[in-house]
Amino acid sequence: MDVVIGGGVGGLLAAARLAALGRRVLLFEKRRWLGGRFTNIVQDGFTLSTGALHMLPHGSRGPTAAMLEKLKIPVVIIDSDPHATIFLDGRMYTEREFRRLLSLRARFSLFWKWIGLRRSVPDMSYREFIEGVGSDLLTSFTDAFSRFTFSVSSEDLPLWEALMATAYTRFYGGPGIVKGGCKSVIDGLSRYIQEHNGRICTDSPVDEILLTSEGSVEGVSVNGEVIRCSALISDIGPRETLALIADRSLSPVREFEESVKGIRPVFGIKISFSSDRSLIGHSGVMFTPECRRVGGVVEVTAADPSLAPTGMHLYMSHQHLPRGDLTPQGVRQEIDLGLEDLGMVFQSFTEDDVLLVQTYIDEPVNRALQGSDLDPITPIKGLYLAGDGVKDGIEVEGIARSVEAVIESIVSG
Ligand SMILES: Cc1cc2nc3c(=O)[nH]c(=O)nc-3n(C[C@H](O)[C@H](O)[C@H](O)COP(=O)(O)OP(=O)(O)OC[C@H]3O[C@@H](n4cnc5c(N)ncnc54)[C@H](O)[C@@H]3O)c2cc1C
Repeated sequence: MDVVIGGGVGGLLAAARLAALGRRVLLFEKRRWLGGRFTNIVQDGFTLSTGALHMLPHGSRGPTAAMLEKLKIPVVIIDSDPHATIFLDGRMYTEREFRRLLSLRARFSLFWKWIGLRRSVPDMSYREFIEGVGSDLLTSFTDAFSRFTFSVSSEDLPLWEALMATAYTRFYGGPGIVKGGCKSVIDGLSRYIQEHNGRICTDSPVDEILLTSEGSVEGVSVNGEVIRCSALISDIGPRETLALIADRSLSPVREFEESVKGIRPVFGIKISFSSDRSLIGHSGVMFTPECRRVGGVVEVTAADPSLAPTGMHLYMSHQHLPRGDLTPQGVRQEIDLGLEDLGMVFQSFTEDDVLLVQTYIDEPVNRALQGSDLDPITPIKGLYLAGDGVKDGIEVEGIARSVEAVIESIVSG
């Protein structure tokens, strides 16, 4: 039997793939509901979310969509067109128009810098690389992109990770919104697992991972009951997985513990707000380089109007939360900066439009900063990881890619 700990999107994708192979799967979720940071919250007729902006970074052609299609799980993904716009000086620019705003010298310099990357990628931050172009406009755009997409300033994003994200976007395509919100994916996966002889137990926290004396997985303990398994996939995060292992003296556990030290979570704030008129007019990301905190805003109802009551429009902004001051006062200040940003971008915006402000610290935006992810196949025999501490790509798309790697490893023994 295979056991999955955690019913977030990572755990459910893994369980569904195992069930599709005819394996017996048992998934434990500590909460009463599934989906973790990728499901809906309905409030006053608006479909808000626990985390994600109802968006798949590579839309209908990405790895998540491909996995759902392979399993024949009917989820509609509405690709965003355009993928993005940039808000500057009180108006919105397309990506093409934005490029034209850059001086000829900056465009030329950027071109040669990209060519240079074909030879080797220097070990530097994305900010350092872009600053070398000598355009403040491009530097501020890059920072907004990084804050929105990775929840860190471009100073903290390794150049090679930014390049990887660009390459994935070229390969798979730009973002799309899930019709009906994130929960459509979660419902589709949980239905599939149960229809394929898998079992999902909610309200069932796993309290310990049990290992043999050689340090391989033996099973888990749930509410004191021991369940044995051959493969164990944990979707609760590398640190949290380690915390469930009592005996740290075994050598594979020590090796795992060492690798966990290298991951860095990233924090953020999401503000969901409404308007009675369309403020952006498309469902791609509107990047906001002039903002101090908000990196971008998405009008999710531009793709799926049913996410708001008739005649209303739903927006979600995302800003990173710098590591400095995470006290309640520090976080409050960051929220205020975000609200000021929204007031600067949308003249009609008032705090009355705000539906929900969510902060992501204990349950971060990403359990591992892009580039600090672990290998999903751990040194502990039989223990695999899923989720955003081991992603191979952007957000849920990276989660889907690493789930594939785990399944291949389990199947090949
Ligand atoms: C503000 C914000 C915006 C985002 N926007 C996007 C976006 O637009 N697109 C996108 O692709 N991604 C986005 N993301 C990222 C995405 O939401 C996450 O990467 C993804 O949801 C993480 O899924 P997961 O399965 O790794 O973890 P989680 O969703 O955290 O799932 C883990 C599950 O494990 C359960 N659990 C924990 N401990 C135990 C235990 N001991 N026993 C049993 N169960 C346990 C938890 O209750 C939870 O359900 C965003 C995230 C945030 C916060």
